Amino acid sequence: MKNKKIKSPLKAIRANCLECLGGSSNEVKECTAFNCHLFDFRFGKNPYRKKRILTDEQKEIVIERLRNARENKKGIENEKKRRNN
Ligand code: SF4
Repeated sequence: MKNKKIKSPLKAIRANCLECLGGSSNEVKECTAFNCHLFDFRFGKNPYRKKRILTDEQKEIVIERLRNARENKKGIENEKKRRNN
């Protein structure tokens, strides 16, 4: 396995499955180890996760929250840069 740091559990499962079957994504797709605990997650996705369906109002709230988070992050990064200089 490569020494690359993987930060997502699902991506780690994907990497494990690729390593398990010699790095071939086609082999992972064709995997027949139905009893393997990782089988359902071998594509690096959670098949049990339901897609969120949001109303327009909820979408606006999410967009606003993301915008605020990005602005806060920018502010924190700028503050760090200012302190380092
Ligand atoms: S599901 Fe299990 S057997 Fe199949 S590729 Fe992933 S780790 Fe290997």
